[in-house]
Amino acid sequence: MKSHVRVVVIGGGVVGCSVLYHLTKLGWTDLLLIERSELTSGSTWHAAGGFHTLNADTNMAALQGYTIRLYKELEEITGMSCGLHHVGGVTIATTRDRLDYLKAERAKHRYMGLDTEVVGPEEIQKLSPITNVEGVLGGLYDPLDGHLDPSGTTHAYAKAARMAGAEIVLRNRVLETNPRADGGWDVVTEQGTVTCEHLINAAGLWAREVGQMAGVFLPLHPMEHQYLVTDDIPEVYNHPTELPHVMDPAGETYLRQEGRGLVIGIYEQDCDPWAVNGTPWDFGHELLNNNLDRISEPLDAAFKRYPVLGTAGIKTVINGPFTFAPDGNPLVGPVPGLRNYWSACAVMAGFSQGGGVGLTLAEWMVEGEPSRNVYAMDVARFGDYCTRPYTRMKVTENYQRRFSISYPNEELPVGRPLQTTPAYGLWKAERAVFGSGYGMEHVNYFAPEGEPLFETPSFRRSSAFDAIGAECRAVREAVGINEIHNFGKYLVTGTGAVAWLNHIMTNRVPAVGKIALTAMLSPKGKIIGDFTMARLGEEEVQLTASFSAQSFHMRWFQQHLPEDGSVSLRNVSLERIGFQIAGPNARDLLSRVTDSDTSNTAMPFLSCTAIEIGPIPALVNRVTYTGDLGYEIYVHRDHQVALYEALKSAGDDLGLKPFGMRAMMSLRLEKSFGSWLREFRPDFTPAETGLDRFCNFKKNDFIGRDVAVAERENPPANHLATFIVDVPDSPESADCVADEPIWQDGKVIGYVTSGGYAHWARKSVAIGMIPKERIIEGGKFEIEILGVPHTATLITETLFDPKAERMRG
Ligand SMILES: Cc1cc2nc3c(=O)[nH]c(=O)nc-3n(C[C@H](O)[C@H](O)[C@H](O)COP(=O)(O)OP(=O)(O)OC[C@H]3O[C@@H](n4cnc5c(N)ncnc54)[C@H](O)[C@@H]3O)c2cc1C
Repeated sequence: MKSHVRVVVIGGGVVGCSVLYHLTKLGWTDLLLIERSELTSGSTWHAAGGFHTLNADTNMAALQGYTIRLYKELEEITGMSCGLHHVGGVTIATTRDRLDYLKAERAKHRYMGLDTEVVGPEEIQKLSPITNVEGVLGGLYDPLDGHLDPSGTTHAYAKAARMAGAEIVLRNRVLETNPRADGGWDVVTEQGTVTCEHLINAAGLWAREVGQMAGVFLPLHPMEHQYLVTDDIPEVYNHPTELPHVMDPAGETYLRQEGRGLVIGIYEQDCDPWAVNGTPWDFGHELLNNNLDRISEPLDAAFKRYPVLGTAGIKTVINGPFTFAPDGNPLVGPVPGLRNYWSACAVMAGFSQGGGVGLTLAEWMVEGEPSRNVYAMDVARFGDYCTRPYTRMKVTENYQRRFSISYPNEELPVGRPLQTTPAYGLWKAERAVFGSGYGMEHVNYFAPEGEPLFETPSFRRSSAFDAIGAECRAVREAVGINEIHNFGKYLVTGTGAVAWLNHIMTNRVPAVGKIALTAMLSPKGKIIGDFTMARLGEEEVQLTASFSAQSFHMRWFQQHLPEDGSVSLRNVSLERIGFQIAGPNARDLLSRVTDSDTSNTAMPFLSCTAIEIGPIPALVNRVTYTGDLGYEIYVHRDHQVALYEALKSAGDDLGLKPFGMRAMMSLRLEKSFGSWLREFRPDFTPAETGLDRFCNFKKNDFIGRDVAVAERENPPANHLATFIVDVPDSPESADCVADEPIWQDGKVIGYVTSGGYAHWARKSVAIGMIPKERIIEGGKFEIEILGVPHTATLITETLFDPKAERMRG
């Protein structure tokens, strides 16, 4: 074994081998993969080998499409067979909601270049005559679905990597990983120590243990999973072609042909987390004991759905473990807090996702960043709140929900409440219905007396529609109060603070007492953050951004902090909380609780001022995401309840009403304000989103400036636009959520980035990315919502306060 290489990959499952291959594909060849046993010795060898493109995240779905198309390339390079069976697959729907979901997926696929199709029960029966279509309303057919030989495919990746110069060492366990002062790693193995510049944890079933060697916890957990292989079945082997896969989510099963029989796999409710205290190092090429009791209910359903199963014996039962992250997507990328340590873990569908994971990680390492937005699988989408027990609980929930419908307004119940602010009890007393993000509870809306404290999950207008409408009107007509705890907040101080922020942000740090909005860009000019910078002092700036991006943003900050100690950075998200007040009466309200001058001259739009509210020291940012006259009031968390009491008692006769996140997201649509991961995300650049107005090209150089400058000379082809969508006024109606295709001239020309109902304006609204030349006031388009086209009219002025008189007044 070599003593020094550029990259060490730990783990020779399908993921480690794919990463190795993709690094060679992008030109790195000084690579060593270290495998404890033989290739495929973790989850990989006993996988059912199925692959599919369906994923709620569009970029994940596109990467799954990439993975599936890659297998032919691998076969050509290596001359080896991946044992491909491109038989197609159909996911069936037995309820209207499921059909809605499949139609929404089909709609997304239109602009992703995936040729899926919604089919009726007769078509399903024709495709798969062994399927009993009783109760089936339709299904989504994907010609790309199929299955392969897990071992052959892993060896093909490995051979392709070796052919390009990578080395693989087998039967050699990694025992320790020790960081070096130069940023590299010493990897201690049974066969000696190897030094590397970059270390990749692709240890699958043992990823937790390997992570621990570097002192980090990766939020993943293994689950047991069973599938059955039947004896030969005449209806199967006499069928003229190989049968397609059938996924029956309501029955929690997937089915495919295996030789002359069938394979049926089950995602059961009565599931079992495996190896809670760690994966044993001596767990080898072995299976777990069958537990048919656990899957008896879904099996009964399967016997009804596929009556031929009743005529066949069971040849084998496979029960094996594999790992999941709390949301079921992989954990990929640089691990926060470590240098040159990369994760390629928690890949629960290695044969759908392994290629995309390998490509993404290789791009990240070789080119500095992935070529598309991979936030949905970024290891930094989780934070410290994801403890071991929390991870296990959420992974179990995710396994149980593997085949559940994901509703856009759904809040998952397990592990809650985890984090709350002092205001939680106050909101509860006001009949708050909570959601949660990044471990923190936030109010979605307030349920009127007599209504349930639960929002019906739906693709259509939910049971909360009227309550949210009332909250929006209270803001626009009087004054609303809402918590601002779910911003990520960072305090940047020190002699180098301003210079550093001017380097990492696109806008200039404003003068003391002022606020500036800014983007943060990657070197390739992609949006990796939209921030508010409040200059509190000569050497002190408060940043606010999305709460859920804390680990993502902290990783970037830490990677770019100057080494001379001139900048201090503190994440104060949990400690600095408070409220925003917004609406025409907001100034009156603020003036009632403070002696400070709240006039527009003393506290103009985009100012930040330290004031006292009674005895409470507070920071007031004159800005609000509602786009109204408004103030964000930040205090220490110990003062939050006192602040609320002061505002409430002063605001009762001004019409003060609390509002939740649902209302806030509706109000911001009326101002066409973008939101993180929807309009502002690493897929887009400032010139595509309008954030270029927050790029200051006169100041010093900043990260991503070259691209932003080039875009001024050569503007990008696409830009965001806002639409009024012609949706009937009915509780049965569905508004846009995200990813709906936008049609013009009979073609899909763009897609929705976010949408919803603007309650004050009483309009259904969508924001979407379309070709720039099509942005014409009053332009007519069609937006497909749940498979139904709706006329949409482009608007170039915001629905609320187009001249920003109220916001600035
Ligand atoms: C019953 C079952 C059915 C499945 N069906 C499908 C399916 O149909 N389709 C699909 O896409 N996926 C399926 N999967 C999931 C699939 O198996 C996984 O997604 C995939 O195998 C993950 O691969 P991996 O490389 O990340 O991990 P693993 O396969 O676990 O590989 C990790 C490797 O790292 C090595 N390693 C760990 N620690 C060390 C160390 N310290 N030193 C050296 N080497 C180390 C291990 O020996 C192992 O070989 C199934 C899983 C199961 C259990």
